[in-house]
Amino acid sequence: MAYKIVTEGESECINCAACLPECDNEAITEKEDNTVIDPDKCTECVGFAKSPKCTEICPIDDCCIRDPDHVESRQQLLGKWQRLYHDEPPQLWGSDMELVLKD
Ligand code: SF4
Ligand code: SF4
Repeated sequence: MAYKIVTEGESECINCAACLPECDNEAITEKEDNTVIDPDKCTECVGFAKSPKCTEICPIDDCCIRDPDHVESRQQLLGKWQRLYHDEPPQLWGSDMELVLKD
């Protein structure tokens, strides 16, 4: 499941840009007046970090959240990471270490 950034309500993004450099996948960009996550590039940080870095750096609670419109398994997220990075070996932790790289 990719992440998304909340744009209204109590958890609304304040466009502070703190999350942009945290994403190795360059999935987070500024678009017009909003900060957005490209679901085609967000791997929930699978491949490069233990847990979602945008949520960790974000100063607003529940601003970077899982997007129910983009549900994916950990294996699918690893496949997305592989498409982005081709031959680079992923960094995996815990149960993710059992995920299988596909040719
Ligand atoms: S969860 Fe990870 S990969 Fe997805 S946008 Fe946030 S930092 Fe980038
Ligand atoms: S760190 Fe949080 S508040 Fe700042 S731009 Fe990113 S999502 Fe928005």
